[in-house]
Parts: sequence; structure tokens; C-alpha cells
Amino acid sequence: RERLFAGLTKTRQQIGGSVRSLFARGQVDDELLEELEALLLSADVGVEATIILIEDLRQRARKHKLQTPEAIQSAMVDCLADLLQPLEAPLQISPPADSPFVIMVAGINGAGKTTTLGKLAHHFQAAGHSVLLAAGDTFRAAAREQLQAWGARNNVTVIAQEGGDPSAVIFDAVHAAKARGIDVVLADTAGRLPTQMHLMDEIAKIRRVITKAEATAPHEVLLVLDGTIGQNAIGQVKAFDKAIGVTGLVITKLDGSAKGGVLAAIAKQCPKPVRYIGVGEQIEDLQPFSARAFAEALVG
Ligand code: GDP
Repeated sequence: RERLFAGLTKTRQQIGGSVRSLFARGQVDDELLEELEALLLSADVGVEATIILIEDLRQRARKHKLQTPEAIQSAMVDCLADLLQPLEAPLQISPPADSPFVIMVAGINGAGKTTTLGKLAHHFQAAGHSVLLAAGDTFRAAAREQLQAWGARNNVTVIAQEGGDPSAVIFDAVHAAKARGIDVVLADTAGRLPTQMHLMDEIAKIRRVITKAEATAPHEVLLVLDGTIGQNAIGQVKAFDKAIGVTGLVITKLDGSAKGGVLAAIAKQCPKPVRYIGVGEQIEDLQPFSARAFAEALVG
């Protein structure tokens, strides 16, 4: 919780500080709501979510006759927590009998895919699951080496191949995991933009090949989003979802961003479970998403 608060400092300053000075007036009138609206839009909350939050606060203020800064602020936390609640659905690792729980990641270059997989390998092992990493980013040698370094550090096998076909690497990894009775396969993929049609076709193929290796897999298709890109995240969620059926999101780099409000936009425009958020580069900085904790860190 402390790390969450520290990690969200920038967004907290951008939204929280201004919100608190607005609420210090002690009354919710049209002027306050207008200024709040501008603030939320500047933090990438998006038009739809902003309208909902403003209307919700207006109603709560009327109903409960909010007249102190503390009461208004706490109502605002409730509004935001309610809006974000549908995104809160922690990832449950439940390996099917005799086969691994397969997680594949997708996203643009530099979003934080490889780092997130390294952190997850550590977390899952700490929770008692055996893990295998698949270096499905065969495009960048550095990505493979980065994953191998995470593997070495955590004593986890990494299935890798120099160059070659990412589908084949991940197919082999799923088979190897099955043969060895491993609980979780974490499969990396190369970064790609939604506009690169051939690469979007390639990742759709990777997904199909995983299903060929293990009929019920992949059990989780994680889209990793860079939290500093704000509203651009919406287009990425929609495009990747169309290509590979996204089942969960990881939103990284929220520590380096004043655009944490984008989670509210996601909740309204393309809701998908936010499995984890990244608020720093340390292993503990990848945290399961909690709507209320996030709302409190932002405006509480
Ligand atoms: P990939 O291309 O998607 O695999 O991205 P990488 O995993 O290589 O990450 C790109 C950079 O972002 C690296 O320098 C990571 O250390 C950094 N990074 C990833 N997640 C976070 C985060 O939550 N906070 C911060 N500050 N940096 C992060």
C-alpha cells in the first residue's frame, strides 16, 4: 500500500493535489464541478468516465448534503472506486489436471512485457507454483537474454531459440511444461503496433498454435500497456482484443505517469480485468489491482 501510494505520486499530484484544494471550499457547486471536470480530463480520465464521475459526485453531494472538505473528498473516492470496481478481478492461477496454466503476453515495444514476465515468474514461484518461461520474442536478441537473466535469477527454465519462429518456441515450451509437470508457462512475444497488420496476424497465429499444443490454453491472454500513453491505451486494448481475445491487462509505469486516470477511461470504454499494475522497477512494484486502494491513492 505504501509502495502503491509512493508509486502513484505523479498522478496523485496532478489529480489529488488540485482536487484537494478544490474540495477545501467545502461545497459542491457548479463552479467546483466544472473545474473538477477539467482536471479529470487533463489526467486522461476520458470524456465518458468524467461525465459519470461528475454526475455521481453531484448526486452524492445533494443526497448527503456534503459540506466539509473531508466529506466531499471521501465521496469522490467512493465515486472513483465504484467506477473502477468492474476492473478488479485478480488473476487466479488454477492449472488444469496434467497440463500447465498458460499465460501469453502481448503489447507494443517497451510496454514492459519482458519485465512483467520476470516479476510474475518470481511471484508465482514464491506462491509455490513451478514455472517455465518461453522466450517468444525471437525478434530481439536482447529480449531473449533479458528473459534468460530473469530465469537464471529465479532458477526457472527458459525455452529459447536464436531467431526462428515464435509459435514453434512457445509450442515447444508448452509441451516441455506438460512433460515435466510444470504448473505455469509464461510466454513472451515480440512487441508490435496494432497498425502492423502482418505482426497482428502473426500473434493471432501464436495464439492458435498454443491452443494446438494444449486444447484449453492459453488460459490468460495478458495485454501489457504502458501507463504513460494515457488515452492511446484504449485503441490498443480494442485492436489486440480483436486479434487475440485479451482476457486481462497489466498497466505498467504508472509511477512515471500523471495519466493514471486512464484506468477510469478503460473502465468505461473497453472494460477488461486489470490483473496487475506496475508502479516501479522493483519486483514488489508489480501489484494486483485494487479499485479502492487505487482510488484512495489518487484522490484520497
Ligand atoms: P518490452 O519491450 O515490452 O518487453 O519492455 P521491457 O520489459 O523491456 O520494459 C521496458 C522498460 O520499462 C524497462 O526499462 C523496464 O525496466 C521498464 N519498466 C517496466 N515496468 C515498469 C514500471 O512499472 N515502472 C517503471 N518505472 N519502469 C518499468
